[in-house]
Amino acid sequence: MVSSDGPDLATRARRVAYGAYRWAGRLGRRILGPDPAAGPAALPGPDPDAPPWLPLPGGGSPTLCPVCRWRGDAFDGPAHVELALCPQCGSNGRDRFLHWCLAERVALGPELRIIECSPRMGAAYRAAMSTWFFYRTSDFDLRAHAGNLRLDLQAIDLPDACVDVLVCAHVLEHVPDTGKALAELRRVVAPGGHLLLQVPVLQAATAPPETPEFHGDHTPVFWRFGFDLTARLREAGFRTDLLCTAEFAAAAADPEGGNPWPMWAAEFDVPDILAGARAGDVPEDLVVVADGPEASRIGAEPGYMYLTWDCRVPNGEGSP
Ligand SMILES: [Zn+2]
Repeated sequence: MVSSDGPDLATRARRVAYGAYRWAGRLGRRILGPDPAAGPAALPGPDPDAPPWLPLPGGGSPTLCPVCRWRGDAFDGPAHVELALCPQCGSNGRDRFLHWCLAERVALGPELRIIECSPRMGAAYRAAMSTWFFYRTSDFDLRAHAGNLRLDLQAIDLPDACVDVLVCAHVLEHVPDTGKALAELRRVVAPGGHLLLQVPVLQAATAPPETPEFHGDHTPVFWRFGFDLTARLREAGFRTDLLCTAEFAAAAADPEGGNPWPMWAAEFDVPDILAGARAGDVPEDLVVVADGPEASRIGAEPGYMYLTWDCRVPNGEGSP
């Protein structure tokens, strides 16, 4: 807000914060230097006019896109993890929940080394990310989701402990050997770093598809994951929480065992998902990152569609 006397205090504070972020980002890139592994499809350099990452704005609008900061009355299309698109950047529900989790769980700053595996979003998104962070994208076959690194998650061609945040959304189900992939993901994440992992959770327990299954880009699906993925991530050496919305946690904790979503989307086996979420240690694994109003504001409803694993690499003895 600008008054006739010039910017108000909040605006001036934001400008100082912008300056500090830009300075830290330049310093970080100078120390790290150009990425020697970057392939010919390397991203363009940081856009000097793009704003650095800042904490997400608070209330005051019915919706907020945590990816591009768009605020308005409603997202486009029905409430669904693959739909409810942001009119400005095209993010869908799971893109926004992933970025919400990133902001909730990671101390974000321009010095972070972030690799995103096969990002769904395109050039404008990637350019913005590479302005905010030391950011690279990867893909296995450089086809549908061409990145600037070619990585096989079962044998990642990167040094140990070289990444602060690995963002891996809707990729692991396309990798044949989950155990190898988890060991490799654990190896390349630096102490204190995070793997933010999303997979479609359509059922309670992990199993291969009963019939050959392909996603829209003709990539085969090897696994349909369930809640037992948490234990496998812990076996691989991660400290793992399963991030969800308050709506999902409440359903998992319902002593009556009811189903709050009687009209669930057919590809999700909601009764099985609810049974899995109420079994064993799963209720204790759940961590709420968005309360009801927050989930509604970022378009992360209905709750059974929104799960993300936050997997941390211990930063020495006694650290969280
Ligand atoms: Zn957006």
